[in-house]
Amino acid sequence: MHETLEPVYDQVVGRNPGEVEFHQAVREVLDSVGRVIGKHPEYARAKIIERICEPERQITFRVAWQDDHGEVHINRGFRIEFNSALGPYKGGLRFHPSVYQGIVKFLGFEQVFKNALTGLPIGGGKGGSDFDPKGRSDREIMAFCQSFMTELYRHLGEYTDVPAGDIGVGSREIGYLFGQYKRITNRYESGVLTGKAEAFGGSHIRTEATGYGAAFFVREMLAARGESFDGKRVIVSGSGNVAIYTMEKVQELGGLVVACSDSDGYVVDESGIDVALVKQLKEIERGRLAEYPSRRPSGKHIAQRQVWEVPCDVAMPSATQNEITGKEAQLLVRNGCIAVGEGANMPTTPEGIGVFREAGVAFAPGKAANAGGVATSALEMQQNASRDSWSREFTEQRLEQIMVGIHARCYATAEEYGVPGDYTVGANIAGFIQVADAMLALGLV
Ligand code: GLU
Repeated sequence: MHETLEPVYDQVVGRNPGEVEFHQAVREVLDSVGRVIGKHPEYARAKIIERICEPERQITFRVAWQDDHGEVHINRGFRIEFNSALGPYKGGLRFHPSVYQGIVKFLGFEQVFKNALTGLPIGGGKGGSDFDPKGRSDREIMAFCQSFMTELYRHLGEYTDVPAGDIGVGSREIGYLFGQYKRITNRYESGVLTGKAEAFGGSHIRTEATGYGAAFFVREMLAARGESFDGKRVIVSGSGNVAIYTMEKVQELGGLVVACSDSDGYVVDESGIDVALVKQLKEIERGRLAEYPSRRPSGKHIAQRQVWEVPCDVAMPSATQNEITGKEAQLLVRNGCIAVGEGANMPTTPEGIGVFREAGVAFAPGKAANAGGVATSALEMQQNASRDSWSREFTEQRLEQIMVGIHARCYATAEEYGVPGDYTVGANIAGFIQVADAMLALGLV
């Protein structure tokens, strides 16, 4: 890390004790932006880096709700409004038992740079709760979402803060959240939440966007090396929204997806994963991947093991943070992996990234590769603001253009700063400069 940034990092650690995921995300960005400092003394004078690491506003609140047996539960809700230099705070809500301040802060921090990279006018934020939706009835999910929104609504607005989904929050939850927002405020403010169903102001392609975008990004990254998805063996971790639509688009682009996973283990299917079946099992039945082989005998379920042991050319981690450490990265490299595209947020640890860098593996960091989701959220906001609805084809075309643009920006920035092919540095610097310049222009706030 650049010597002038060490004290900034130490201050972040001191101010946010125990928030290890946040420290990790900050360290990675500071490691990259050291290269910018010498060229831009105005950033240091205005203490841009110190300001960028401190959220503009942090909200923590109680969420009380009642289960189907009448028992009362208390969860904790969060919204970190991190940076609004480029536009209203924008970023998802995560409902998962692992959620605490440090996770929301790391996600919010990543979101700031990711959103900047899209080139669209959106600031960065993130929220969520330690509520565990697993095994909860539809009524319980609705009760939780209504209680969550009863507090959060006062902080939102289409020009203020616009949440969407993330892990544990899909279009069902967004529907319940929007319904409660509308009831409390008596305003049909479509643009206050994105990821809505198409029936009430949602955009085509928003559900598919993160996965499709990640596949487009990796296609561009492979092309930059004279390669393509054609005939490549691809493995994907996870089997949620991001994983499913990554697999769908990779198959369309000519790749052979041979494995995907959930928290019980993974499925390997040498004839190619049946994505429609995964959708049926995970999205419609809300069941487990372990049932895959009983419906499609070419698939094998391997319990309690990691998908990374399946040999592949391309790996697309699409589950959650820190799932590829140095050890898994070494295994992938040994088995011949040439490219990694992060569909999830920060799924690779700094050690893992180091292993890929050293081995010359093409590596697409989440804040670039998975930006298609939030970019399409911004397209949803555009449609809501103009009371319009675009066709599926047009929306997908826009998404594709945006991903091609992000790839080009990361690639060119890495080259400009003397690390050709390093998308991590390229993404961090390109995103940082965009936000930093806006902050300078807006004065000391
Ligand atoms: N949660 C997604 C992300 O990590 C999407 C956020 C959004 O659409 O606002 O980028």
